[in-house]
Amino acid sequence: MLKLLLLVGVVIGVYYLFFKKKALTPPSSDNSQEEAMIPCAKCGTYVQVKESLMRDGKYYCSRECLAA
Ligand SMILES: [Zn+2]
Repeated sequence: MLKLLLLVGVVIGVYYLFFKKKALTPPSSDNSQEEAMIPCAKCGTYVQVKESLMRDGKYYCSRECLAA
């Protein structure tokens, strides 16, 4: 009986820790960098990082700005 109570206690403890940890971590934290808006180094137009073009550590909104 004591072992059963101990087992139940451990299971509840694991569940508590799991949900607490999950609650502290926003689900959108992984792609927050991709969703960020950054200005084009040439014309200043804001574009999403994942849709921008990068060269020499600078972001550009289009191929025209990248080539200029
Ligand atoms: Zn641009």
